[in-house]
Amino acid sequence: MPRRQGLRLTMSSGASNNRHFGIRGLPKACVCGRPIVLWDSKTQDNPGRPFYKCETQRNDHYFRWVEECMLEEIQDVVAKIEKPEFHIGSSSSDLAGMKKLVQHLSNTTKQLSRDVKRLKIIAISSTGLLASVIAAIAYFNFR
Ligand SMILES: [Zn+2]
Repeated sequence: MPRRQGLRLTMSSGASNNRHFGIRGLPKACVCGRPIVLWDSKTQDNPGRPFYKCETQRNDHYFRWVEECMLEEIQDVVAKIEKPEFHIGSSSSDLAGMKKLVQHLSNTTKQLSRDVKRLKIIAISSTGLLASVIAAIAYFNFR
């Protein structure tokens, strides 16, 4: 039986293939305005590795590995948590900030869940990422 390689959650892996036009995190649409589609890599270098690509499948449109999108999405959420205005405090604007963050996390989780359902390989890494988010929230709010 062939040995399965684990997903490498580094920013450098496959970075040279990326064409994300500065779109951070999980993509909502290509720069051309068309929807982004989730694909499975069929190449020898990246067998079964999931990626997002513009539905046109054109090489000068959006392309990015799914785990890199997820990692960036998580990093952005954690960066938001680190900002003082997102911490629970005495003012109502703090509370509004927290509500926004919870909504964002909820949407992110839903998106991750959809991807997990479609691609088993992602389940392992995203569980770790979600655990990291939860740990980050706990750390920044309860330290
Ligand atoms: Zn496009």
